[in-house]
Amino acid sequence: MSGYDIHIIGGGLAGSEAAWQLAQAGHKVRLSEMRGSGEMTPAHQSDRLAELVCSNSFRSDDADSNAVGLLHQEMRALGSLILTQGDIHKVPAGSALAVDRDGFADGVTAALEQHPNITIVRERIDTLPAEGRTIVATGPLTAPVLAESIGRATGKDSLAFFDAIAPIVHRDSIDMETAWFQSRWNKGSGKDYINCPMSKEQYLEFHAGLMAGEKTEFREWENVPYFEGCMPVEVMAERGVDTLRYGPMKGVGLDDPRTGRWPYAVVQLRQDNASGTLWNMVGFQTKLKYAEQVRLFRTIPGLENAEFARLGGLHRNTFLRSPELLDGTLRLKSAPNIRFAGQITGCEGYVESAAIGMLAGRFAAAEIAGTDLPPPPRETALGALLSHITGEAEIETYQPMNVNFGLFPPIEGRTKKADRKRMYTDRARAALKDWLAA
Ligand SMILES: Cc1cc2nc3c(=O)[nH]c(=O)nc-3n(C[C@H](O)[C@H](O)[C@H](O)COP(=O)(O)OP(=O)(O)OC[C@H]3O[C@@H](n4cnc5c(N)ncnc54)[C@H](O)[C@@H]3O)c2cc1C
Repeated sequence: MSGYDIHIIGGGLAGSEAAWQLAQAGHKVRLSEMRGSGEMTPAHQSDRLAELVCSNSFRSDDADSNAVGLLHQEMRALGSLILTQGDIHKVPAGSALAVDRDGFADGVTAALEQHPNITIVRERIDTLPAEGRTIVATGPLTAPVLAESIGRATGKDSLAFFDAIAPIVHRDSIDMETAWFQSRWNKGSGKDYINCPMSKEQYLEFHAGLMAGEKTEFREWENVPYFEGCMPVEVMAERGVDTLRYGPMKGVGLDDPRTGRWPYAVVQLRQDNASGTLWNMVGFQTKLKYAEQVRLFRTIPGLENAEFARLGGLHRNTFLRSPELLDGTLRLKSAPNIRFAGQITGCEGYVESAAIGMLAGRFAAAEIAGTDLPPPPRETALGALLSHITGEAEIETYQPMNVNFGLFPPIEGRTKKADRKRMYTDRARAALKDWLAA
């Protein structure tokens, strides 16, 4: 590593953005990417840096009422390579930012290849370096040998290889006239869960909907082994009409305040972040298609107007228990010479991965320069995502997450729902301005 200030492993969305930020700050970067050395992941098709493995969309570009649009805007303000090349290679997509995937990846690759501070080496790295400043940005499909090394360094159960995602609902979209707070048998605080009750008729209809619902088909390598603890809800439904009613949907020990009795079945939600804005549907990991999830889960009493911060899914996905393992600037607490960035930290999506790469690059650049870079305020999209990953999220239920307004500190006081998104984004812009000025 002599002659370099930092080693970045992985030239995807996050590693490319981190390399750019460091190089622009005047630091010498060695960027190791295994594609191009005879290695490939199961999803990539080329040896280009920042290749988009599936859709060509960076999602909404609306910075006034959408959290990912706001993230675009903040990244542009911080000189993001991914957003610059995204804007150059934009294709028509309404209010979304979609890109010509080949032109985009070629543009990122050329910008990094031509940068005098960056050396790109096509090589596979198999162990976490014991010393030397390093950013690991090897993504959801991290090469297995390196994943083993990361697993050894972080400890048992700290690195997952599959996600099993249950939908997450914004608390303020749950109808509390129908649902109520209570934990089963009044354990814990007695009201740790939100309960949505179902009558027999409603349960049978819901069960039929789960059986009939259209499921996502995965390619061979994406198939997820079903562990008993994270069985998809529709697979449980297939085992028998009462399996769910004696499993995650059991009504025993819960007193519906409207009837004074245990409901026939129940859907429970558990708090998913410290501020209590997001609630996780317990046991509802699923392979149902997204539109089907929204339609079916809105038939659950109390969730008729549910807004989902995240929908369910099961995928191959290598990610860390970051809220426990990483400090506020993405360093591994047990080995602070190493930072993690991108989807391996448990963010989800192209833009979020690049955003966390951008922050890792900026934190490392400040450290090399001997200056202190405070994390962006939680009111910003960058800060909300970062704090979710580095401590705000519930550790036990930690699963990959897109940026959304539920990660932001709630807006205090009574506000009209229609105005709220604009209030989040106006507040974020003011906070980012102050942070940049400081
Ligand atoms: C199949 C699939 C489809 C997805 N579809 C979408 C989508 O449509 N939209 C969306 O927003 N997000 C999608 N994602 C999620 C995610 O946003 C992307 O995977 C994103 O590319 C993550 O960025 P990253 O930089 O963290 O990882 P990546 O972009 O995957 O980059 C990691 C890089 O590290 C390299 N690497 C791995 N191990 C080593 C090693 N040991 N040594 C050297 N190099 C190594 C890889 O070759 C790769 O280039 C998808 C993910 C998967 C797996």
